[in-house]
Amino acid sequence: MVQGFLLKYAEIGIKGKNRYKFENALCEQVRIKLSKIDGSYNVVRSQGRIYAEATGDFDCDEVIEELITVPGISAISPVKVVADKSWESVKKATGDFIEKQYGNPDFSFKVKSKRSDKGYIYTSPEICTEMGAYLLSRFKGLKVDVQNPEVYIWVEIRDMVYIYSKVYKGAGGMPLGTAGKAMLLLSGGIDSPVAGYMISKRGVSLDAVYFHAPPYTSERAKEKVVTLARQVSRYAGKIRLFTVNFTDIQMYIYEKCPHEELTIIMRRYMMRIAEALAANNKCIGLVTGESIGQVASQTMQSLAVTNEVCHMPVYRPLIAFDKQDIVNIAEKIGTFETSIQPYEDCCTIFVAKHPVTKPRADVIRNSEKKIEEKIEEMVKTAINTATITEADWQPHGI
Ligand code: ATP
Ligand code: MG
Repeated sequence: MVQGFLLKYAEIGIKGKNRYKFENALCEQVRIKLSKIDGSYNVVRSQGRIYAEATGDFDCDEVIEELITVPGISAISPVKVVADKSWESVKKATGDFIEKQYGNPDFSFKVKSKRSDKGYIYTSPEICTEMGAYLLSRFKGLKVDVQNPEVYIWVEIRDMVYIYSKVYKGAGGMPLGTAGKAMLLLSGGIDSPVAGYMISKRGVSLDAVYFHAPPYTSERAKEKVVTLARQVSRYAGKIRLFTVNFTDIQMYIYEKCPHEELTIIMRRYMMRIAEALAANNKCIGLVTGESIGQVASQTMQSLAVTNEVCHMPVYRPLIAFDKQDIVNIAEKIGTFETSIQPYEDCCTIFVAKHPVTKPRADVIRNSEKKIEEKIEEMVKTAINTATITEADWQPHGI
């Protein structure tokens, strides 16, 4: 009965002359997403929306579940399309559609109409009145409420007739591939996967880097990060995850530098390495899950000292978020359960009892002189030996 899906987008509608690029990027992302599930789909742009025509065996709920993860879509409606525009055919098709969607309808409703075919026998207001009367006579449980209806029923007369009613809220934001690529510092915690999700919703593609410190961090901790990357890729598209062996660097800092400065110096090296990998892989920014005041390394002073070593912009989408708000998003996007699995990540093992909370850049720079001898070589090795895992969400968990 449902023959396709009408996809509306919000922001990309205002991009002027570049609009078609955004529309094409969105069509492409919709195609990639739908190629992963049953059915075959023809995805086309049509008068300010996207229409995904569905054929073969497909599961309407599954299509919606997947499409609501595509950045750039604001709303999704299952739609019936009728080629025969005679009024009798349109009326019957609308009634059948409502019956199929709602069973025995029992609610207040309002018909909305649009007509781009100006030669049609009825005007938009006439379509609403005529269709309303027909539906009232066909379904006893219906009543009209033009002020505050429970259900809207749309009838659009275009090249063909488009009938739809249910509207599912999409992810919003901008289509992937319209904003360049960034390198996400992805740990096994709650915050960084959420940061990746948020930035990708603005159309940014992602690579990711994870700093692994075996044997202090286990293979399972790494597996957990791979799983998180896969879960984020449901929204962000395919992610290449670089795993950097950080053990030697961490040990060296631990041996030579004051322990209370350990975290901040480690973080500076994480940023430096992430930036080098970013530059080598066409990324034009870094992304972290930092939020002001959350831990010692995220005071404004610590952030300033960490940031000092970066030349690329560092995007911190969670900077002003409360933890609970971050948790809520993590639950919504399905990363929370993975994030709270109890495998150590490399920061938690080397934390000092009393880390500095207001580091001074000159003091930290001085401490870093103590590792001058070997650190550059170690950083090079870490970059050159990074391994790559491709993370790509599959709805059926393949
Ligand atoms: P998260 O929940 O994202 O792990 P957190 O609250 O544990 O964050 P920190 O450990 O201070 O905070 O890390 C701050 C940010 O630094 C993280 O959000 C992440 O972007 C990055 N980061 C920390 N540890 C690692 C790691 N082992 N590998 C890659 N990135 C990391
Ligand atoms: Mg962490």
